[in-house]
Amino acid sequence: MRDFDTGAGTPAPAYVRRPEGPAGFDYLIVGAGFAGSVLAERLAAGLGKRVLLIDRRPHIGGNAYDHHNDDGLLIHRYGPHIFHTNSQQVADYLSRFTKWRPYEHRVLARVDEQLVPIPINRTTVNRLYGLDLDEAGVAAFLKDRAEPVPEIRTSEDVVVGAVGRELYEKFFRGYTRKQWGLDPSDLDKSVTSRVPTRTNDDDRYFGDSFQNMPLHGYTRMFENMLDHPNITIMLNADYRDVAREVQYRNLIFSGPVDEYFDYRFGKLPYRSLKFQHETVAQEWFQPVGVVNYPGEDVPYTRITEYKHLTGQTHAKTSLTYEFPSAEGDPYYPVPKPENAELYRKYQALADATPNVQFVGRLATYRYYNMDQVVGQALALYTRIAKGEGATAEA
Ligand code: FAD
Ligand code: UDP
Repeated sequence: MRDFDTGAGTPAPAYVRRPEGPAGFDYLIVGAGFAGSVLAERLAAGLGKRVLLIDRRPHIGGNAYDHHNDDGLLIHRYGPHIFHTNSQQVADYLSRFTKWRPYEHRVLARVDEQLVPIPINRTTVNRLYGLDLDEAGVAAFLKDRAEPVPEIRTSEDVVVGAVGRELYEKFFRGYTRKQWGLDPSDLDKSVTSRVPTRTNDDDRYFGDSFQNMPLHGYTRMFENMLDHPNITIMLNADYRDVAREVQYRNLIFSGPVDEYFDYRFGKLPYRSLKFQHETVAQEWFQPVGVVNYPGEDVPYTRITEYKHLTGQTHAKTSLTYEFPSAEGDPYYPVPKPENAELYRKYQALADATPNVQFVGRLATYRYYNMDQVVGQALALYTRIAKGEGATAEA
């Protein structure tokens, strides 16, 4: 076995431990993102299981990983992660591992040479059209432009049916074509349904009851979560290599489900991104945390400025540009009927595989936010605990 290291020549961080039990591990958990880490914590702390948590990346936290860059600015390596949830259970659970910083996310879109709020709201309509409509006026304006769509099926239908073709083209068509490499008419309605339309002045990106960022960042929260003597962490470690060399009774897998089954039915499409991280020698770059660029004149979809999210004070500021890509790490399952059908084949295989549980965004092929993954992992824990006759206290 390659041992509990973090890669050739890299000293092990404090959270990497070595308590390998003589009889192997109760659980091997693949992936140290939200799905794997929540299950590692629960199984270790809740059921006293001995857990080996592995990740092929050199860090814990999965896509939510954040770190201080060379200038000391806290950035998110895999793009902006804003925590929001309506689940009290999820908020309470994570609150055991972090304090929070109140943060309500606001996004502006670069449209017609202006920066206007997205989700589309009263301000957006009034600014773009030089109007001064009240709430009822904006509702009537949008109703007048909305196209009747007999059956809302696609991501185009959702928006055209709510705000009409012109606003759809300004805000959604180009962004979606860049982000997914597909026209919105070829994407499931669930994608653009993530973004509401408003007629009032609410300019928050999310409407959830709990909107906060982990006070010291996501990675610190994960470190606290995984700080348990029953949890061993192995980084730079791929499942295929580890599975050959360690003994374990049960497997929890949070990597791509098609990869687990050697792409037996073909590859599940995942969309990737290239992140361009930059630090500029000025205090602020843009007025809000994220500015979206729906225009197809630029190849990126959005620019994030982290100081808005983290509350850090610094003379410089760090940014991330997101360039969508067909190649690279799998970040987004692509919601389309034929992909859902292909996933169902893998799901049937997964259901029929004993002693292996599939959980998380990649293993269940769901476009889940962080809180949904935490909820899914806690639900799986409850099922495991019940199966063992234990009282599950998630
Ligand atoms: P991941 O975080 O992907 O973790 C899976 C881990 O498994 C990875 O670290 C991977 O290296 C590891 N792995 C895979 N295969 C193997 C293998 N064979 N061997 C070893 N290790 C393996 N959610 C929000 O709530 N708010 C946001 O603002 C938000 N913004 C996002 C922005 C971007 C650009 C992206 C891509 C996602 C965003 N999300 C956001 C979603 C969020 O990232 C996910 O919901 C969450 O991180 C999923 O957790 P997970 O554990 O399922 O998967
Ligand atoms: N979207 C868009 N224009 C925007 C914002 C979002 O077209 O200004 C569409 C796009 O298809 C995007 C989807 O709505 O992929 C969901 O947006 P969200 O901000 O939730 O994407 P995520 O943060 O998950 O990348």
